[in-house]
Amino acid sequence: MFDLIAIGANLTHDSFDADRSAVLERAAAKGVTRIIVTGTSVTSSVQAAALCEAHPTSLFATAGVHPHHAAEFDEHTAVAVRSLLKSPQFVAVGECGLDFFRDYSPRDAQRRAFAAQLELAIEVQKPVFLHQRDAHDEFVAMLVPKRASLAGGVAHCFTGGPKELEAYLALDLYVGVTGWVCDERRGAELRAAVPLIPLDRLLVETDAPFLAPLPHRGRANEPFCLPWTVRALAAVRGVSDERLASCARRNAERVFRLGELPSSPAIGTSGATDPRSA
Ligand SMILES: [Zn+2]
Repeated sequence: MFDLIAIGANLTHDSFDADRSAVLERAAAKGVTRIIVTGTSVTSSVQAAALCEAHPTSLFATAGVHPHHAAEFDEHTAVAVRSLLKSPQFVAVGECGLDFFRDYSPRDAQRRAFAAQLELAIEVQKPVFLHQRDAHDEFVAMLVPKRASLAGGVAHCFTGGPKELEAYLALDLYVGVTGWVCDERRGAELRAAVPLIPLDRLLVETDAPFLAPLPHRGRANEPFCLPWTVRALAAVRGVSDERLASCARRNAERVFRLGELPSSPAIGTSGATDPRSA
């Protein structure tokens, strides 16, 4: 069985409210033993802290403000995020970045929030968990002058093609790939880029509850779906499933420095709450 780390799961999302513990158990049953919970706002980052506290060996989290919520970012936000990041369970700053596709927050607010979180990441020396959509050039231009001071970064939910990938690799970022890769039609550009991702930079994620891989389309995506992504990636790369899984796990341990924390019995063994009472 795999021993996988699912980076980028939105486990605080309300679609998991009814059976969050069952979600963790289903993940563990498929070999998804550790999960990095995505913080997208102060509220969701605080919720992530509570989840990590209940499952300290299997759950870790990011703390930060998604570009969609950038309009909320002020000096109180920075203080709150900084204080969460003091906990070893918080392994990255984000998700942060620019999203000019949805433009849910004004672009100026997005730029300010992203710049502030880059500074925060430099201050606490934790990697950045990066989100970018339709803002590639500006996003890269903001990262370039900060990159040497940053403690690494992850371009999460990468769906771009070879050209975007080249820019991320030049910034020495890790690249997170979702179930998008399972879709031969919609994922065609991504599938062209995947063979160019060095095996020591590749991460796997579900972006649950979003982006269900093809066999699960139409249902809420869950971390237990991660093996589909692993198998699709291995097939596109022409390596064994096991090799791809172990590379992705070691990469996640390296970029998020998980080896420096006490390691991991299976999910659901510590402090799990009864799903029926949640
Ligand atoms: Zn994202």
